[in-house]
Amino acid sequence: MAGPGLRRRAVTNQALANLFREIADMLDILGEDPFRALSYARASRAIEGLTEDVAGLVAAGRLSEIPGIGSALADKIREFVETGAVGFHGELRARLPSGLLDLLSIRGLGPKKVRVLWQDLGIADVETLRQAVTSRRLRRLKGFGEKTEANLLRAIELRAEGESRALLWDARAVVARVLDHLRTHSPVERAEAAGSFRRGRETVGDVDILAIAKDRAAVSRAFVSMPGVREVVAAGETKATVLLEYADYVDERPRTVQVDLRILEARSWGAGLQYFTGSKDHNVHLRGIAQSMGLKLNEYGVFRGEEPVAGETEEGVYAALGLPWIPPEMREDEGEIDLAREGALPKPLKGSDVKGDIHVHTDATDGTEPLEAMVDAARRRGYAYVGISDHSVSATVAFGLTADRALARRDPVREINARSPGLTVLLGTECDILDGGAMDYPDEALREFDFVLASVHSKFTLPRKEMTARLVAAVENPHVDVLGHPTTRLIGRRDPIDVDLAEVFAACSRAGTAVEVNGYPNRMDLDGRLAREAKKAGCRLVLDTDSHASAELDAMALAVATARRAWLTPDDIVNAWPLERVREFFG
Ligand SMILES: [Zn+2]
Ligand SMILES: [Zn+2]
Repeated sequence: MAGPGLRRRAVTNQALANLFREIADMLDILGEDPFRALSYARASRAIEGLTEDVAGLVAAGRLSEIPGIGSALADKIREFVETGAVGFHGELRARLPSGLLDLLSIRGLGPKKVRVLWQDLGIADVETLRQAVTSRRLRRLKGFGEKTEANLLRAIELRAEGESRALLWDARAVVARVLDHLRTHSPVERAEAAGSFRRGRETVGDVDILAIAKDRAAVSRAFVSMPGVREVVAAGETKATVLLEYADYVDERPRTVQVDLRILEARSWGAGLQYFTGSKDHNVHLRGIAQSMGLKLNEYGVFRGEEPVAGETEEGVYAALGLPWIPPEMREDEGEIDLAREGALPKPLKGSDVKGDIHVHTDATDGTEPLEAMVDAARRRGYAYVGISDHSVSATVAFGLTADRALARRDPVREINARSPGLTVLLGTECDILDGGAMDYPDEALREFDFVLASVHSKFTLPRKEMTARLVAAVENPHVDVLGHPTTRLIGRRDPIDVDLAEVFAACSRAGTAVEVNGYPNRMDLDGRLAREAKKAGCRLVLDTDSHASAELDAMALAVATARRAWLTPDDIVNAWPLERVREFFG
């Protein structure tokens, strides 16, 4: 997932930017000189925007090239590069209660509000804040009200949900680390992840790893002593549990996730994999079928009386119940078992069915890499085409482009296409849907792009009727080809907009506008259930990643998992088609 060098460089600069941002926040909370806070905040943004490694600038004596960095800040940067910390940061931190800065991770709370909460009500951590909100003590404060209380309560709940579950993207990295460790540091013969991770859910409560080994104790020992283990909860010979550290990909905050290791007998491998993959409802349904056939199904196998009938492979377990193997992503007991019995399961989508990614940002807007780098990364993945879709002008936080500047990239795109057979670059736009449903670019500009992805990036709280009309108007625009991240939810951060999606899907189907399954780690929008609704309504879908860096093109695996959860087939998915058919659809 982490690209060589690039992601690491970003992290170092990002770590320093975060630290300066925190200094600015602490100065504000403490009510110190506002200009000093402002200069740290400005420096934080400047460092975040650097394309070069800050350590390299220190080494080359070129810190003065960063805008807004005077000698005092330059000293702090050198201190950080040399020691990995800044003393001044520690001094400020010591003056604040330990849980106070956590309040800043709640949406709607900035340093000025946190200062008021702390000074006036003595609120210094999230739990005390939750109590104050539920006992309605905030609305008396200046700058707060009933509405603020309601918003804060929802933000606290969202944060709690986010803390207790790992993003699928992060779980993928955790699973890769654990499997890699077991395979290189223990005599494990076979190891695989099960659970909701294997079913491709957007978030994962805990990670289940199954293994087979002759020397079980050695595997268990290697597991509990792997790097990043914060706590060993249980360390038995057939089952061990640890809390493993990881950094949340999106906000880079340190987190832990529970990882369970179970070491199975080879003859029970398939039954264990089936059992621990779930879902619970799917398994209850299967046990009912087993019973009706005079069989018993459990995590050790399928039995007639004491006699084992199956268990070594998952296929064998399903076959013993008269069923074909069912893809893990479909195991939610939503009709898949009946379909399987009729032999009518949709053929599950494969990653290799996807022929291109058409939601890709570059450093022309809020991406971190230039056009050429993103195109090269798409080529390395073996794609037949890649669609560049930078932001339109109203997306000011994302450095949106004017139509002229966006279309001026026609020449470099043509040039790349001329010299690189095999991969075609499509010039698109992620064009904002304005609050009335109009598009951010005029029709004359929209028709010049190879495709138009229309997305909501503002006014998330419009009432349902207006929001529905807004989206319907956008997808009915004849130049709009794809509706981007239709619910705009951010997992653990922002609820979906209030919109009648049935009406929007119907409009998409009528207008021939595709609907996006966005695989970005904390979007996954649409999710599997909604994507299935869209298909039922007659919509085509697009799987893409919303990549802002080349390593994020990997998020296609998340979109593919979602498509499998939605029972989509290649024919439903625009970017599983060859380029000619895609062009026809966009045209
Ligand atoms: Zn977007
Ligand atoms: Zn985007």
